Amino acid sequence: MRLILLGPPGAGKGTQAHRLVERYKIVQLSTGEMLRAAVAAESPIGLKAKDIMASGALVPDDVVVGIISDRIEQPDAAKGFILDGFPRTVAQAEALDDLLKKKKGLKLDAVVELRVNESALLSRVEARVAQMVARGETVRVDDTPEVLTKRLAAYRSQTEPLVHYYSERRKLMTVDGMMTIEEVTAEIAHLLARIAAADKAKSAKKSAAARKPVAKAAPKAAARMPAKAARTAKGKGSASKRSSGKSAAKSAGKASRAAKAKSARKGARKAPRSAAKKVTKKRAKAPKRLTKRR
Ligand code: AMP
Repeated sequence: MRLILLGPPGAGKGTQAHRLVERYKIVQLSTGEMLRAAVAAESPIGLKAKDIMASGALVPDDVVVGIISDRIEQPDAAKGFILDGFPRTVAQAEALDDLLKKKKGLKLDAVVELRVNESALLSRVEARVAQMVARGETVRVDDTPEVLTKRLAAYRSQTEPLVHYYSERRKLMTVDGMMTIEEVTAEIAHLLARIAAADKAKSAKKSAAARKPVAKAAPKAAARMPAKAARTAKGKGSASKRSSGKSAAKSAGKASRAAKAKSARKGARKAPRSAAKKVTKKRAKAPKRLTKRR
């Protein structure tokens, strides 16, 4: 299972991601967490991202795409992953499509949008900060009302277009993020179960179609035929894909017999070559005589 969690800061992406990790035994890939780790480690990426993150703006696309590209190559992501906070721009979404399809041959299952009432976001973030303080944890530098306003603006202008992007690609599932944590989890699980059932039905239909004997019968018979007859039989075979295997074999047999008879006739015609020439000459002369008579 490969998922994206989409939503503004404070929508509950992190909380839901943790719950989905437990449920589906897949990894959570949070670009925000990875970047914060890079900042703490003072790595080159961290040094580049530090001030940008503190201001509430987005880190350049190439930086986060590079991080995600490396991360989804790791063995623990092979079974599936939840992307939390990535992609955040259309360019990142396109880069992800490219990464999954072309480089890794993987498919995205769904994009879950957590839709929330913006006025509730500030109080949610305030509650999160209070909880972190109570646990003795370090509070994020970008969890202040001023920076949150900037992060929300960045979401609206750069990330919200992804709702349209994934809706067009029939990947979007919107969940009411104002419900309780349990209700949101249950709703996501329900929608994912529906997707899994639809995928199962689709692949069952595909394998049933592949098991039909028709497609195999015609080429086998065609393989024993002369080239020209085989071409004819193949054409018939493809047209008769909907008919039974027997009729396809029968028509291939017919084509074979017809080809043999045709080549026999051809052989017979070939033998008296001079006679054939005479006929051609006579035919050529005929119109001249007609002209003279007139
Ligand atoms: P988050 O923890 O997801 O709220 O991210 C915290 C900050 O990290 C954001 O405000 C951005 O500065 C940066 N960040 C995280 N993910 C991305 C991303 N996909 N693209 C650009 N910047 C990001």
